[in-house]
Amino acid sequence: MHLNFIAKHRPGESLSCLLIRQAEGVFLSPGELLSRLGSKCNPSTELLALLRANKCSLAAIWPLSDLKQSATYQQVAESRQYKQWINYNTLGVCYRCAEAGFVPESHDFSIMPACTKHSLKLSKECSACSRPYSVNRYHLTHCRCGEPIRSIKASEAEIEEAHYVEKLLHGGDFDSLNAYKELRSITRRFAANNIELSPYIDYINGQPEPLAEHISIAAQQLTHISLRALSAPFACAASEIVKLYAPRLLSSLHRPKNGVKGVSTPIDFRLDQTEFRYTLGLKPQTAAAIESRFFNLTSRVGRPSASFTYQTLARFFEPLLPETDKTTCHSVSLADLSASQKLTIDALIERVLTGGITLHSYDDTRPLSQIRVVNDMKSNNDAPKGYMTLSSVVAQLDSYEEAVRGARDAGLLPATHQRSCNNRYLFAENDVEDFHKKYALIGELARETQYQPMRLSDRLRELGVIPVAGPFEGNSPVSIFRRSDINDADLKGALKITNYATNSGRKPKSTSRFDSETWATGQEVAAELDIPLAQLHRITRHDLLVKGVPRVRGSQRRYYYRRDSVETTKDFLNKAVDINDLSKQLNTNRKKLISRYLYLLKAEPIKVGSKSLVPEKDANTLLSHYRNYLDAQAAATYLSTTRHQIGNWKKASRITPIPPDDDNYIRSPQLFRLSDITRLKQTLIEESKAPAGPSVANV
Ligand SMILES: [Zn+2]
Ligand SMILES: [Zn+2]
Repeated sequence: MHLNFIAKHRPGESLSCLLIRQAEGVFLSPGELLSRLGSKCNPSTELLALLRANKCSLAAIWPLSDLKQSATYQQVAESRQYKQWINYNTLGVCYRCAEAGFVPESHDFSIMPACTKHSLKLSKECSACSRPYSVNRYHLTHCRCGEPIRSIKASEAEIEEAHYVEKLLHGGDFDSLNAYKELRSITRRFAANNIELSPYIDYINGQPEPLAEHISIAAQQLTHISLRALSAPFACAASEIVKLYAPRLLSSLHRPKNGVKGVSTPIDFRLDQTEFRYTLGLKPQTAAAIESRFFNLTSRVGRPSASFTYQTLARFFEPLLPETDKTTCHSVSLADLSASQKLTIDALIERVLTGGITLHSYDDTRPLSQIRVVNDMKSNNDAPKGYMTLSSVVAQLDSYEEAVRGARDAGLLPATHQRSCNNRYLFAENDVEDFHKKYALIGELARETQYQPMRLSDRLRELGVIPVAGPFEGNSPVSIFRRSDINDADLKGALKITNYATNSGRKPKSTSRFDSETWATGQEVAAELDIPLAQLHRITRHDLLVKGVPRVRGSQRRYYYRRDSVETTKDFLNKAVDINDLSKQLNTNRKKLISRYLYLLKAEPIKVGSKSLVPEKDANTLLSHYRNYLDAQAAATYLSTTRHQIGNWKKASRITPIPPDDDNYIRSPQLFRLSDITRLKQTLIEESKAPAGPSVANV
């Protein structure tokens, strides 16, 4: 079809406006225009395709180069959730903009509440046919049914919000926009619809407290579930900004003291499974056990994610939330109890619910394992008072044995080894507490930020937050961070990084493995040093090449070598002396040299390739040793006599070999100190000058 009118895209114009103008220009509706162009799709689908630069009939009218879209529009188009942002079937319309024939881009976004230019609320629905305004209309100003579009004046709050959204859109701050949108939808779950803009902005800028206050008030009907449950939607949000400040929001949530004020709307509060698991704050296995035991949920692959209504949650949580703390009696946390009684947390919770265990207190911002109960059970744990066994430390930190052992082996958590008690380790309670205050295990950070541990630690590394101990530091299977190294700013930066070096999982092709800068493979090292791969181990024995096993997940390779050590080794090999050259220099034979090397330095030449090398340092030691300590043959040469004669002098005690307690002694051959030989020579010369005496006769 030939078009005798083509609408030109103006900068900042919405695509829906462009399409309606185009169709209007050729006296068709957008739908009719598209079917004339041979498209089988509806206008909204076509427009989304155009937005995302996919193949579509509209691209024939407006090639990509003719569209002048803003950066944010592009960003939204590229994001996976573009459908949540723009829906061309339900558009908001400002009639003044429509009359003017120019609708700004921002009006295409469903989050936009009002027109900032005309201070009018965007109308969403026709008053005559009560259908939403779609892009498929004949005129910008009229509904498809023919009814003119009217708009009412926007409220102050709506205008303020519209300005904020537009500012983020124009500024290209998609992350904040995302956070704002998600915060809005979360507060809607609390039926908290009349919160002004500033608490949201504060939250996005890292001050979640004002919003927490609003949530606390809105949630005053939700008293029978834990505060942690209330913060779960924040902690499990898709937006990383929302997620990041969730722990701080949680810490400022509270229960209003004055009870319910005024008329409150009933809240249909519910959690999805991820949020529920965050609420429990337990390991996945335990969480699954609780789900099946108390909620009749069995973990099945492919099951649509479960939904936990307030009623179900309240039935579970209410008995666990004690009214007052019974501070007088001795209490113990479920975590400790589970370790000492060898019972799972879910079994203990069942006992609490059935009255088998008396509840003491529960800080309900913390995981379920921190419920404290009255301690009247006899402990099966025979650890001395003030000490904990490995399993109770594991329970206390809600971690894994491997992680605690890692902390212990890295020297961060002092322990006492009891060989007599089944080789167990004991940890002082104070030490465990100090450790928890000072360090954070990656698992805990991951649980609180609802993030994959490996991805989190990779990103932190990228920011330069290096764990004090971890798999790449070579001393612990899990990363352990110093708490003071991790603050909100760091985490916020870390979560924003999209392109980071990693060793885990699938990753974009361009990302490097960060260990490749530090670690080299055997092949690489062998090639660089020009020695056969199979002979590498001969060098590693000399503590030169540092061999390590960075625990790279999914790697088939066992051993890596530190790159900096390769350089040192290269230098070392260049300076090393060939054994043949050395024996020539010392005027001795190779076999004797090797034997003295072995006796003296307990080492032998490194055989690499066709050479036998003596390290420079060893060669120097040998040189000076040969110079100062002579064997019988060398002594004879020095005195211009025979070995036999040396033997005679020795028998006559005129010279003595160096004794076994001398540092320079070797078992074979016997050695004579050069100074002794020189002195003997001197004596001999003097004797030969002197008249024949008894001593000469003795010789
Ligand atoms: Zn307007
Ligand atoms: Zn209508």
